Order: sequence, then C-alpha cells, then structure tokens
Amino acid sequence: MHAPGTTAIFASFLLAEQEGESVVLRDHWVLTEGRRIAAITPTRPEGADLVLDTPGRFVLPGLMNLHNHCFSEAVARTHSEDGAGRKNNQSIVYTVLMPLTKRGIEILSPEERLAVARLGILQLLKGGATTVMEPFRAGIAEMFDAAEAMGIRFYGAPYLFSTADAKAGADGTVTYAAASGGTDDGAADLARWNALHATWEGRDAGRIRLAMSPHATDTCGPDLLRAATARARELGVPVTTHLAQSQSEVATIRSRHGRTPAEYLDWLGVMGPDLLAAHCVACSDDDLRLMAARGAAVLNCPRVFARGGTTAAFGRFADHGVRTLIGTDGYNMDLLGEMNAAAMISKLVSGRAETASSPEIIAAVTTEAAAAIARPDLGRIRLGATADLSVIDLSHPHLQPLHDPRRALVWLANRGNVDAVMVDGRVLVQGGRYLHGDEAAITAAGAAAIRKIWDLPEARAAFEG
Ligand SMILES: [Zn+2]
Repeated sequence: MHAPGTTAIFASFLLAEQEGESVVLRDHWVLTEGRRIAAITPTRPEGADLVLDTPGRFVLPGLMNLHNHCFSEAVARTHSEDGAGRKNNQSIVYTVLMPLTKRGIEILSPEERLAVARLGILQLLKGGATTVMEPFRAGIAEMFDAAEAMGIRFYGAPYLFSTADAKAGADGTVTYAAASGGTDDGAADLARWNALHATWEGRDAGRIRLAMSPHATDTCGPDLLRAATARARELGVPVTTHLAQSQSEVATIRSRHGRTPAEYLDWLGVMGPDLLAAHCVACSDDDLRLMAARGAAVLNCPRVFARGGTTAAFGRFADHGVRTLIGTDGYNMDLLGEMNAAAMISKLVSGRAETASSPEIIAAVTTEAAAAIARPDLGRIRLGATADLSVIDLSHPHLQPLHDPRRALVWLANRGNVDAVMVDGRVLVQGGRYLHGDEAAITAAGAAAIRKIWDLPEARAAFEG
C-alpha cells in the first residue's frame, strides 16, 4: 500500500480522550500525519494532502472487532437461520458447516481462497471496523495476503488443534484423535503457526500481526494449550480461544478433566490478562468471577447465538467485572449491528434499561479492546495515537434530530452510515465506498468461490435434506 500522507477531518462530534476519559467534542478537526494523530484542534489545519470537510460527521477511534471468521460464516450464510437444516434438533453449525469449511478450503484454489478473504475484509471495512482479530484454519493463509493488500489492521489467528479433524457426535460431544490415544496434531500446528509468525508478524510497520489461537477447550489437549501459551508469552502476542460455547463442551471437559472449561484453562495457566475468550455463554457465575480475577477478556458475539435462540448478554459478563468486548464471529460481519444487539439483549435479559449503556458498548470496541491486546496507541483519539478512525455520517434522516451521538450510534445508526474508515493514516473507505478495489468484482469473486463449496455433493445433501 501507498505511504500514508496528511489528512484533515472535520468532526461535528469527536469522541476524544482527555485526561483518560472519553469526551464528545463539538466542531473539531483531527489532523493525521503519517501513521499518527498529529493535532486535535477547533481550527482548520493548513496544508493537509486530503481534507474531509463535511458537516454531520461523528469521528470515533477506529472500531475494533476482535473475533471474526471471514471464511466459515460465509459458508453458513442464509443456510443456518430459522433452524434450517436442523437434524435431531441439532444445529448444523458443528455437524455440517464446520466439516464443510474444512473440505471447502481443500477444494478451492489459492486465488479462490483469496477471493473469499477479500470479500470478508471488504465487509469488515465497509462496516466501520479498522482492526480485526481473525481466527482461521491454517489452510487459508491467504487471509494474511488479503489483509496486507487491503489495508485493514489484522491480527491473524491461525488455529491450533490437538487434531485437525475434531468431530461432533450426535449428542454434541467433540472427539479428537489425541483424546483416544491417537497422534496429536498440536505440535505440527504450532510449528506451522511459528512459520506464519516468522513470515507475517510486523509487516507494514506492525499493521499485520498474529495472535496465538488454540481453537477451543474441547479440541485442544493440555499439552498443546500449555505449549501454545508458553510460546505466546515468549513472543508477547495475545492468546485467543473459544471457551464454554455450549453445555456439551462443559460436559466434555468435566468428564475429561473434572473441571469447568474456564477452570481447565486456569489449571493450565492459560487464563490471564492476555487471554481473549470467545463466547463463554456456558460459563458459571464462579467461572466469570475467576475470569475477572485473572483479568481475561470475554469476546461477546450476541447475534450468532441469537440466530440459534441462545442468549449471550454483554451485561452478564460486564456485571461480573470481566473485561467484555464485542465481536461478530463472522456472522454478518456488522460491528454496528452487533453493538446494537449487545445493548438490546443485555437490557432484555436484565430488565434494566441502564445496563450496557452506549458509552460502555463503544468502549468495548475501542479502549477496552485496545487494552485487551496491550495496544494503548489504539482505540482512542489523542495526540500521538495511531491514526485509525471510523467516521459515521449522522446527517441521515433516521439520525436527525440528534441530542447524544453515542446513543445515536448504538441505537439508531447502521453500517450503511459508515462514511470513512482510516487505518494507519490511510483512508480506505470514503463516502461509504472502498477506495482501493472494485467492490462489485470483489463481491462477485468471493461469492462464486463460496458457491463452489455449496455445490459439493455433501453440501447439497445437507442443505436439501
Ligand atoms: Zn468464533
């Protein structure tokens, strides 16, 4: 990508940080120089290469989506809503879609895998996200190529499994070869992760990074979890995993290790301030207290669970004092929509309108997200911070009149209102359009690759049966 220049952006509302607090400033300018925020001023800066001067804009720190899957949910898209494809009252997510994703990666060419990755990143950027943490099967290393070329801030998280071929039985129990004395793929996966780290970590002045990503408690044995965590801490990279996603996972870990999934991670030394644990919907209250005590973060992805009729309330985690972030889990890749769902579901569950307030929800995708990955330069607009910005157009009729821009963002806005996205001082989206590629061509190529997976005989049988 081109070297970042200087850009001046006018904000009718600016979410800035002053003395450690988030404040909304009226009618200010942000000036970025290179990859940094160089000035925040009420007067128009002189001499910028690019000037974005349109009234009605809400300029926020770049929004951070720290749990997404560009590939696997594209395979599921419109196949899994409304209970479609359920067999024996079981969701097809584990029984059909996960194996299909694995098979799909094998049948697609590198160009087709790149096309799927590009389609996902296009959605993320147009949805207003500047940073994504993306766990994915190591067979789609094209995710890195797409992220590097398209400009998003990327924490690639290639999975580690104790076996690459974990299977869910009819009762939901996950089995894998290592659990029954077979060979363990974990060491090979860790070696592959190390190779990807050597190739990609720190590319483009640190925009491209890795996270350690053991897949889940029921697909990763103790040796792998210990080794992966030790390696992550040696390198100073975040650790992300799926935790307590279902009651069947809780039962599996109880029968294997006599612990809850959260206790299992704590027993192995995985639970710490560098852990980002997705979902946690089957965590007990004691588990959440343990996570709070260890400083671990929950990645709350409410919509993917709402799809299946399960409640994942942001407020439940936050009320236990756990650092709670919001991600899309690949479903719809719409961070603004996910923020709205997180607020709404929390209020419904608690019966309290005060819970999960708009400032808390926005902090979950800015300052709190940045803290969880130890990046104080991200998630805030202040002098010297990294120049990642999300700009929302509040001039739409459904956002007027306006008293409180934060409430407007969480409750009334949608991703169609994303006006501009800047990462590392580069404007990637302007006027709602991605600037560095043909949106229609990216969409067509990605969709065509996914349709190739849907055309597999096993997919046809599953979807039509
Ligand atoms: Zn996930």
